[in-house]
Amino acid sequence: MRVYVETYGCQMNEYDSRMIRSMLVADGHTLVSEPEAADAVLVNTCTVRERAEGRALGRLRHLRGLMRPDAVLGVVGCVAQQMGKGLLRRVEGLQLVIGTDQYSVLPTALRRARSRVTRVATETVPGQSYDDRPAPLAASVCDFVAVMRGCDNFCSYCVVPHVRGRERSRRLSSVIAEVEALTRLGARDVTLIGQNVNSYRDGDTDFPALLESADALVGIDRIRFATSHPRDLSDRLIAAIAELPSVCEHVHLPVQSGSDRVLRAMNRSYTRAQYVRLVGRIRESVPGVAMTTDLIVGFPGENERDFEETLSLMREIEFDSAFMFHYSVRSGTAASQLADDVPRSTKLDRLERVIDAQKQISARRNERLVGRTVEILVEGPSARSAATVFGRTRSGRTVVAPGPPDLTGEFLQVRVTAASAWTLRGEAGLTEAPAVPRPAARLDGT
Ligand code: SAH
Ligand code: SF4
Repeated sequence: MRVYVETYGCQMNEYDSRMIRSMLVADGHTLVSEPEAADAVLVNTCTVRERAEGRALGRLRHLRGLMRPDAVLGVVGCVAQQMGKGLLRRVEGLQLVIGTDQYSVLPTALRRARSRVTRVATETVPGQSYDDRPAPLAASVCDFVAVMRGCDNFCSYCVVPHVRGRERSRRLSSVIAEVEALTRLGARDVTLIGQNVNSYRDGDTDFPALLESADALVGIDRIRFATSHPRDLSDRLIAAIAELPSVCEHVHLPVQSGSDRVLRAMNRSYTRAQYVRLVGRIRESVPGVAMTTDLIVGFPGENERDFEETLSLMREIEFDSAFMFHYSVRSGTAASQLADDVPRSTKLDRLERVIDAQKQISARRNERLVGRTVEILVEGPSARSAATVFGRTRSGRTVVAPGPPDLTGEFLQVRVTAASAWTLRGEAGLTEAPAVPRPAARLDGT
């Protein structure tokens, strides 16, 4: 069958879609890039925040209209896992609902769906980590590898542990084989992903040891990882970031709030002071490290003072960038038992204020780089203007510079000429292969 797969949500969903594609191809299906041309359309959806879920349901209904009438429509991933067969009532013509532990049934379920057999598969499979998956079919210059699935942290607002289930790590050999396969296919910058990568464990191998094994691979230029939970980020991991040449100087460390009261209610298990100290240790050991974060405003009971503490923490730490969200109730979570008492207008107002604050901080931090030369890995032509390319520095900053599209996958030295909160612009110099990242690149905060 010709299958079209569309993805909403986080990197983990993007990653799962890739895994699903390779499973389908291994089973003899082909992939198409337009829903109109497909015998089956699969939508991999996100349920972490209310808006993501609503958008996905809207898109499903829209797709039904675009598709050939005899084509099969299916939902996979988190929304399928959480809503189960209830989805069949909400989306007309839906035939497949396949949860996060059940992707292996997809190839056969698709064929049967063609003969109008509806299939709902959302049973959890303890330990399901898809270690026997087929090799990836293609790679991007910057690519991802999931090292674990699920989460055991139960932050009170978060639906992930309820949907994706208990934390399980993939086998080291399987992770490394995949990183290797991706680099052979052209990836040069690989992010190891998981809801809480710091608690990775396969036998004696913990996360710093996994980084060491990945770093030792030939052909990998940059390694990143996300997400770290502040509670589990160890001194050994900080040392690994500082010492392993391909591990980039970038730590994404969600703080969620600057108020101890709110942090406690969120079940984050650290205080503001502990977080600040941890960032201090990271910055001391990894000069020039970029620190990025996630924030939620309008959590139940968050008053103006709590919120001001989030703003003051942002100014104190000076994050390089942040993903900022307003709280939305997710059913099944501990926080869903609390009154969602911050009015929507206040949530939106606070969101605007954190976004404004971060914009100023990011702009200030980026401006420091004007006049300096940074090294970027070119990811492709820039959509912003003709004859330009974009790429990222080791610290994850996006840079746009003049250059032809065939620089994609190359390293480029760029002299920064202008900076805004979200991007740097520059003049391109010579391309250069950084077989081993030079210490200078690690000390100047680029
Ligand atoms: N495991 C990662 C990612 C979790 S989801 C982590 O621990 O950081 C990504 C982000 O979505 C979270 O960090 C949080 O900021 C946000 N988020 C999760 N649930 C939310 C909710 N109910 N309302 C608003 N934002 C939420
Ligand atoms: Fe959700 Fe917390 Fe787990 Fe992140 S660490 S996925 S926010 S429960």
